[in-house]
Amino acid sequence: MMRFRSLGSGSGGNATLVEAGGLLPFRLLVDCGLGIRQLAVRLGQAGLQAEDIDAVFITHEHGDHIGCAHTLALRYRIPVWMSQGTHSAIGSPDFDGLLHIARDAKAIDMGGLQLMPFTVPHDAREPLQLSCTDGSSKLGILTDLGHATPHVMAHLQACHALLLESNHDTDLLDQSVYPPFLKRRVGGDYGHLSNMAAAAIANAVNHGGLKHVVAAHLSAKNNRPDLVQEVLSNALGCQPGDIVVAGPSSGTPWMQL
Ligand SMILES: [Zn+2]
Ligand SMILES: [Zn+2]
Repeated sequence: MMRFRSLGSGSGGNATLVEAGGLLPFRLLVDCGLGIRQLAVRLGQAGLQAEDIDAVFITHEHGDHIGCAHTLALRYRIPVWMSQGTHSAIGSPDFDGLLHIARDAKAIDMGGLQLMPFTVPHDAREPLQLSCTDGSSKLGILTDLGHATPHVMAHLQACHALLLESNHDTDLLDQSVYPPFLKRRVGGDYGHLSNMAAAAIANAVNHGGLKHVVAAHLSAKNNRPDLVQEVLSNALGCQPGDIVVAGPSSGTPWMQL
């Protein structure tokens, strides 16, 4: 049995819980882009506390992903995985033996949960996104990338659920008050996925066993949940309401696989 839950998504902070197993579940926190108090509040809303987290995986060094990872790990003695590049980009802090280095396409066996990190094109030192499996279900997590490479697409095959960045509507971004350099950064090859780019990915990996598509990392200024639901549901041939949108602070309910 596997389930996942966004604790919040967007440039204000990202964190996603992945839980596998029955009576004694294994709980992974993917990204930790919140303050420690806010993280506790959101874990509480999920019926959990920091002590319940068994491992942390950090995708890259941007503040909306790294957040309180160091404090959390040391305070609760939780092992943390991140790339060498991410670790050096945050100043190579000492994790007191809790740090594990994650590498592209190198499987990580956490016992109840197996992870497969993969490289994505994003303006960070060595960003990794990942898929997770308990042996029977597969969840793909894909945020913070400018475009989908063949490498990314290969890693997202046969997912039963997808947490997928749908950052901006290209027209809204074009018309926005963002300065030109920021528009180029967000919309560029090493920035964030547009709704149309997300739809193309969803369409390409769609199969009969794909149960949930959760739209994530929406821009507060250059996107709207209803636009995302429309574009993604068109691409997947489902109803707009079937697309769950992860809120900036509300996240999502538990999504069962
Ligand atoms: Zn981000
Ligand atoms: Zn980022």
